Amino acid sequence: MTGSSVPFTVPSFAGEVPDAVVKVLDSGWVTTGPQTAGFEQDFADYLGAAQVVAVASCTAALELCLRAMELPPGSAVLTPSLTFCGAINAILHAGHRPVLVDIDEDTLVPSPETVAAAAARVAPAAMIVQNQGGYPVDVAALTEAAGLDRTRVIEDAAHGPGAARDGATVGSSSFAACFSFYATKNMPIGEGGAVASSDQDFADRVRAMRLHGMSKDSWKRYMPGGSWRYDVRSVGLKANMTDIQASIGRAQLSALPEWQRRRGELVARYDASLLGSPGLVVPQRDLEGIQHAWHLYQVRVQERDAMIAELEKAGVSTSVHFIPANQMTAYREILGEDECAAVPVTDRVGEELLSLPLYPGLSDELQDRVVGAFTEALRARG
Ligand SMILES: *Cc1c(COP(=O)(O)O)cnc(C)c1O
Repeated sequence: MTGSSVPFTVPSFAGEVPDAVVKVLDSGWVTTGPQTAGFEQDFADYLGAAQVVAVASCTAALELCLRAMELPPGSAVLTPSLTFCGAINAILHAGHRPVLVDIDEDTLVPSPETVAAAAARVAPAAMIVQNQGGYPVDVAALTEAAGLDRTRVIEDAAHGPGAARDGATVGSSSFAACFSFYATKNMPIGEGGAVASSDQDFADRVRAMRLHGMSKDSWKRYMPGGSWRYDVRSVGLKANMTDIQASIGRAQLSALPEWQRRRGELVARYDASLLGSPGLVVPQRDLEGIQHAWHLYQVRVQERDAMIAELEKAGVSTSVHFIPANQMTAYREILGEDECAAVPVTDRVGEELLSLPLYPGLSDELQDRVVGAFTEALRARG
């Protein structure tokens, strides 16, 4: 191996972040307060969303949305099996039953057909859809296929900021879209999440439930003229965002468009070097009306596990999105073998998925090292 190794991901931070954090530390108010409110407004403006509620994580956002829908306990909730475990845990923690949906092999997300097939097994009360890798799913088509009202569909948009379908930004018109500001995501804060909603009542319920279900948060109670009195109207979570996180988020947001541009540029460079390589399959993503968020550069290869080891040896770290939920021990125990056998395309394609390094701080030079090591590993397989 020559030269430095290439990490799978490195978070970028805008130059304004340190000053923004120090200001909050000096202000005397560090938890949910004016910065959080400001970040919610800024992120709503970025998305074009009516309402944004900032929370502790995307996983918490998913659980809060499910709870705010007030479904009967034990409801069937459709979810792709090719997703992050946090999304499955959110359904279980909210007291419901995940029902696994298979993917369409070309796009790596559920199709109306796979959703309809899962909905025929069990009458679903709600559904989570996911913008795998940054691909904006057709929420309306999947909602119709599930036979659900739009007020029962949650978008897991952890990979989604920057994506759009037919000119509509992901989250701009959703009833409930959940975003992540985890360290590896397109707009890292470190930890954090948000719910975007077109519905004021729903957003207000999520807002109360992110802080124990209290009728007034402590910022409002401690402000001049605020009252010590509050009520608990629903049993909420402790899942609020702090003003420290929010101040980082506000600074990060101004850099996001440039980072998205760089992600697109890196994808074009990967495409120019890799597309058409024998043995390589990439998910379909250049469809009409699609603006991808380029969270991941995913490929499908044979002998994936051996390739990961060879790339690691060559100093190139990669990842897998995702190990399907139906293959995880806890979910196999909870859901049972039959349910976990219902997603054959996920099982087959899941063995081939590989994500290459893609982040704004990746230089052309390091990307060329990834391409070199990857094409070498492909060529060795003829
Ligand atoms: C990262 C991720 C999450 C969880 O986000 P957190 O903010 O870490 O809770 C949920 N769903 C998907 C698809 C993710 O990639």
